[in-house]
Amino acid sequence: MGYAYDDQNIFAKILRGEIPNDTVLETGHALAFRDLYPQAPVHVLVIPKGPYVCYDHFAQTASEAEIVDYTRAIGKVCEMEDVAAGGFRMIANAGEAGVQEVPHLHVHILAGRPLGRMLQQA
Ligand code: AMP
Repeated sequence: MGYAYDDQNIFAKILRGEIPNDTVLETGHALAFRDLYPQAPVHVLVIPKGPYVCYDHFAQTASEAEIVDYTRAIGKVCEMEDVAAGGFRMIANAGEAGVQEVPHLHVHILAGRPLGRMLQQA
């Protein structure tokens, strides 16, 4: 299927510098910043700079350079935020059933408290 990217989404505006963000890390192809409404003591979002709607879109169509840079940026943020020792969760919501609110790929990195089971019962 095709993926239609909406360049008016809030993370596109962050990437264009139109609205502020609390940056944790910036690389050639990625930006990491703190979630505006943190759900854990550590709640960082990592986004690619390219116009990708969701993880599957990125994984299917991004260049190898983008994929390597983005993946390494996620690893660097995990290191900077020291999440490995206490454990953490990465979430990439997609689409309607995934309840994705912002249609620009973002991985949530959550840590710093017990995070409960992976999914709530519907
Ligand atoms: P999702 O439901 O996976 O699309 O998550 C979107 C996330 O973006 C939520 O956790 C929001 O709190 C977060 N968010 C929305 N606007 C901003 C913003 N301007 N800066 C940082 N995080 C934001």
